[in-house]
Amino acid sequence: MNYEVVIGLEVHAELATRSKMFCGCPAVFGGQPNTQVCPVCLGLPGVLPVPNRRAVEFAIRAALALNCAVASVTRFDRKNYFYPDLPKAYQISQYQHPLAKGGYVGIATPAGPKRVTIQRLHLEEDTGKLLHLPGGDSLVDLNRAGVPLMEIVSEPELSSPQEARDYLMQLKAVLEYTGVSDVRMEEGSLRCDVNVSLRPAGSAELGNLVEVKNLNSFRAVQRALEHEVERQRALLEANRRVVRETRHWDEASGTTFATRSKEEAHDYRYFPEPDLLPLEISPEWVEQIRSQLPELPGKRRRRLVDEDGLPEHDAAVLTASKRMADLYDACRAGYPDPKTVSNWLMGELARLLNATGRDLSQVPLTAEHLIGMWRLMDQGVLSGKLAKAVFEEMFRTGKDAATVVREQGASQISDEAQLAAVVERVVAANPKVVADFRGGKEQALGFLVGQVMRETRGRANPELANRLLRDQLRPG
Ligand SMILES: [Zn+2]
Repeated sequence: MNYEVVIGLEVHAELATRSKMFCGCPAVFGGQPNTQVCPVCLGLPGVLPVPNRRAVEFAIRAALALNCAVASVTRFDRKNYFYPDLPKAYQISQYQHPLAKGGYVGIATPAGPKRVTIQRLHLEEDTGKLLHLPGGDSLVDLNRAGVPLMEIVSEPELSSPQEARDYLMQLKAVLEYTGVSDVRMEEGSLRCDVNVSLRPAGSAELGNLVEVKNLNSFRAVQRALEHEVERQRALLEANRRVVRETRHWDEASGTTFATRSKEEAHDYRYFPEPDLLPLEISPEWVEQIRSQLPELPGKRRRRLVDEDGLPEHDAAVLTASKRMADLYDACRAGYPDPKTVSNWLMGELARLLNATGRDLSQVPLTAEHLIGMWRLMDQGVLSGKLAKAVFEEMFRTGKDAATVVREQGASQISDEAQLAAVVERVVAANPKVVADFRGGKEQALGFLVGQVMRETRGRANPELANRLLRDQLRPG
């Protein structure tokens, strides 16, 4: 039988506010355990939560960037459950009246563009973190308890693990562009739960849903889904039932394992949070936030295709991260050829980022460095091959291209006699340019220096070449 895959994603993004959702504790990552806590986020009796206005603003900004409708009145609810990382034994979340509903994320599929519906976007608070020790004991760190969290739930409209991955990448890009979250999956500020079921092709009814929790990389999302699809397919083909449950992904074995049966909403005994009034969100505030939205990834991608003539694929890769897209724009502001810019960013730069495991924020390279290097290539000073070596040095040290060329050149051809021989050859081969220079055309010297650099594949010291040329060309 032919089966259809049905996937939905729940994405949690920590908001990049300075303080927590309902108290003034710092919301920054990486503090000493249990140092960023107070009676409110520890859930001590008698305390009252106060909503963080900036967190609400960030969630509205994300909602608008994701094409959602923002509610005029939204309310917080208590989601009750017991777990050691949740000191209050309930989480303040939103259930019946979420902040926003009904947006979408556009993805590219082999069958063409597809809009994946966002069912809801709501605000809540994060839990603490448990650290399980090898001996069986566990430690709890409540620094994260109360950090503002935004949950974004898609409709189950994704039909393959690849689509799920693409959706997550697009969603991450939108959140990064709007600046509401630092979307670092490795630090847990962006986390993903997936739900997946199979049904006979053409059937309208959903199969039994399996949820896989806490996937913390794009790769994990795709691999966990691929594994789960095959596991469910094998069960169905053997006429066995898929149990509705929550499973965990084990990166090492590449499999999922059952942890508990899946909770239903009624298990949480949701009720309106009695300590918080409903939030009224004025249309003026929403419009003010909308007017401050930056250019979003989809629009930027179109601009790179329509105005710069880049292929769709290049445009998609370059705009998937805001830092990369910003670097592209900065390079383009000072250099006319989009394809050169795109090739270097997607080629050498991406390769070195991958090889060093760093992201752009950790690299001293600037647009000015790149533009300087391309100009030297255009002048014939740098060959493509030598430019790659210069690029690596700029990437590593933050020095500009001319400095790298000078330093590397000086160390490689420092011998004056050796360079003088090259200068002689260049002078002999360019009688017309030499005549121009002798006739008073000073710029002609630049061309001859370029020829010397070319002859030495960029390894000549330009200052030495300059001096030797002047010596040779001196009249009489
Ligand atoms: Zn606190």
